[in-house]
Amino acid sequence: MTVVLNPATEEAIAEVQSATVEDADRAIEAARRAFPAWRAVAPSDRARLLRRLAALVEEHGEELARLETRNVGKPIQDSRGEVAMVAEVFYFYAGAVDKHHGETIPVAGGVDLTFREPLGIVGLIVPWNFPIAIASWKLGPALACGNTVVLKPAELTPLTAMRLAELALDAGLPEGVLNVVPGSGSVVGQRLVEHADVAKIGFTGSTEVGRSVMAGAAGTIKRVTLELGGKSANIVFADADLEAAAAAAPFAVFGNAGQDCCARSRILVERAAYDRFLELLVQATAEVRVGDPEDDATQMGPLISADQREKVTSYADGTVVFRGNAPADRGFWFPCTLVEATNEDPVAREEVFGPVGALIPFDDEDDAVRIANDTPYGLSGSIWTGGAARALRVARAVETGVLSVNSNTSVRVSTPFGGFKQSGFGRELGMHALEGYSEVKNVYIATGG
Ligand code: NDP
Repeated sequence: MTVVLNPATEEAIAEVQSATVEDADRAIEAARRAFPAWRAVAPSDRARLLRRLAALVEEHGEELARLETRNVGKPIQDSRGEVAMVAEVFYFYAGAVDKHHGETIPVAGGVDLTFREPLGIVGLIVPWNFPIAIASWKLGPALACGNTVVLKPAELTPLTAMRLAELALDAGLPEGVLNVVPGSGSVVGQRLVEHADVAKIGFTGSTEVGRSVMAGAAGTIKRVTLELGGKSANIVFADADLEAAAAAAPFAVFGNAGQDCCARSRILVERAAYDRFLELLVQATAEVRVGDPEDDATQMGPLISADQREKVTSYADGTVVFRGNAPADRGFWFPCTLVEATNEDPVAREEVFGPVGALIPFDDEDDAVRIANDTPYGLSGSIWTGGAARALRVARAVETGVLSVNSNTSVRVSTPFGGFKQSGFGRELGMHALEGYSEVKNVYIATGG
């Protein structure tokens, strides 16, 4: 039995039976039995079922958002936004069911055509930082392509995924199509990775566990999509609108209390603008409202766990230029923290996954690109500049999968999301995600007499 805590209060909010290997096997068997009928559902009916699920998520939006906030400690306004995105994801993939199709290719002596076939049973392993949102990014394309699914939520945050499985049944998805198995990574996660009947693993989490998922998947040549860690750069040039860049920067590091794979936790600032930017950034960071996640005005809540707080604490030394306030009573709180660093310091090299931003000065454009790329990761990042040509030049040169110019946003329902380098591979969201949940089958038909 796992006791699920509210990280803002350390109170137990639920007890969840931890699944065993046998439970995982039962879910895989249910998905196996449901697959033939699910893949055969007419595209318009599969789309209708996904639309119904989206509508139910919208109807239960406030309930799901409250549940997510209590389980993850994230501000209620963030949870509302994430749950709204979940509905949008299911609407998007409902619309994509009949727009992801094969082609005909000119060949000699006959006709050649391709089909997009589902993979079969897909195992989805998701983390605790955006539990229901990341689950939906994988469920949407997996179900739209005609796969059946076994989803393993993080042990710390199983509640919204479990509720989503109930809503899926209410929406009319047949039994066995979407199975949620709460349990630990080393038991349920590993079983999904190793089970011969599971065709693919969609994984989001740490690079370390991603590496072991990839190695484990080799045993059965499973397909894998890996969305792993990041150490993204927020590059601020002296010709940028410094007020706008500084006003936005805190939320790119302290959003979700820094527990975000896209966190722009390396803030690279051109030397000519460094002092002014630092002054503006400290002012903006001091205004971040930290406190009760259930309060509509709150912008940052606690960390997920005592372990996470301990890990984050180890990075918050060095030259601290700002440390904010956080509640001192119960809960896994950690204040917004800004440190000055070099790109060689652990705070700039490792994924802190907490509200700690590292400020690093640079000399010129080449220096900015060199520092931004001097990391094993390559997930996200931002470029702040007034020059359109520079924005494009730097965007082409920075080795990451997702970039924004004069903005710190990374994720949109209709656009591809995923990493370069050790941030993983495969793309989620948009039409691109469908590639990861289907196989291309090529059929040649001889038409000679
Ligand atoms: P993990 O990578 O350990 O967990 C992610 C998911 O993988 C969880 O559901 C976990 O299960 C599962 N898992 C763990 N071990 C295995 C395994 N051997 N086989 C299959 N699945 C497994 O991340 P943590 O949650 O422990 O966080 C640690 C660090 O990872 C963070 O501090 C952060 O740096 C990074 N991280 C990055 C994320 C990202 O989005 N890029 C998301 C989360 C973390 P369970 O936890 O239930 O045991």
